[in-house]
Amino acid sequence: MPYKDPEKGKARKREYRAEHKEEIKAKKHADYEAHREEIKAKKHAHYLENKEKIKERNKSWVKANPEAAALVGERWRKANREKINARSRARRAAHPEQDENYRKAHREELAAKQLVYYYEHWEEYAAYREAHKEERAKSSAARRDAHKEERAIYIAAWRKAHPEEVAVSKRKRRALKAGVGHIPYKIADIISRDRNMCGLCHKRVAKVDRSIDHLLPLSLGGADAPHNVQLAHLKCNLSKRNSARFPVNLRLALGGVVC
Ligand SMILES: [Zn+2]
Repeated sequence: MPYKDPEKGKARKREYRAEHKEEIKAKKHADYEAHREEIKAKKHAHYLENKEKIKERNKSWVKANPEAAALVGERWRKANREKINARSRARRAAHPEQDENYRKAHREELAAKQLVYYYEHWEEYAAYREAHKEERAKSSAARRDAHKEERAIYIAAWRKAHPEEVAVSKRKRRALKAGVGHIPYKIADIISRDRNMCGLCHKRVAKVDRSIDHLLPLSLGGADAPHNVQLAHLKCNLSKRNSARFPVNLRLALGGVVC
């Protein structure tokens, strides 16, 4: 029997719904479960019938709510990662040339992206490397073994083409061995800083006679660093031979090469 006062009836209904919230929810869900396929088919039919309209509506919603839309998109991508990956794989397999062209056209962009990704995930990379240490060492050794001769040729060519880098690494090794500090520097910079003059005899140094003299020798704890080196004739350098003939202070004063 209907209530005489409609407002009262509405209030009573609200009350009832609040009291039986869970029950109503469960019943709705059961109804849905019982007619799932039917409901889905109906929804799909509705979608097909109103496709353009729905698409337009969705588009305008995305435009009006870009942040919410980004969230929805992200959630969807997360839930459908496998599907997305499979689709990309299929597309790549069907059009390998497209992929190649894209990579060629966006090489630098992709490399930068990769680098960013690496830095963002470097802990995972490090953990992976740590977890696969032995396998990695083994496969590297096997690869080196399999390409021994090529490697030797390649390394020799590289060393010939990069004398500067070779000299730096040699000095670094010496410094490490002597247990002293090392700051990388370029010979060319030392030459121009010292105006191509020998720090020991103060005469010009020809290219073939060039050598790097350590003001305080490595053997006495001097660092292999710009502030402790000067350009010198190889002959002058060899005749000096870590001797204390020139006290460090005097040599510093003579060379005037502190930078
Ligand atoms: Zn000299």
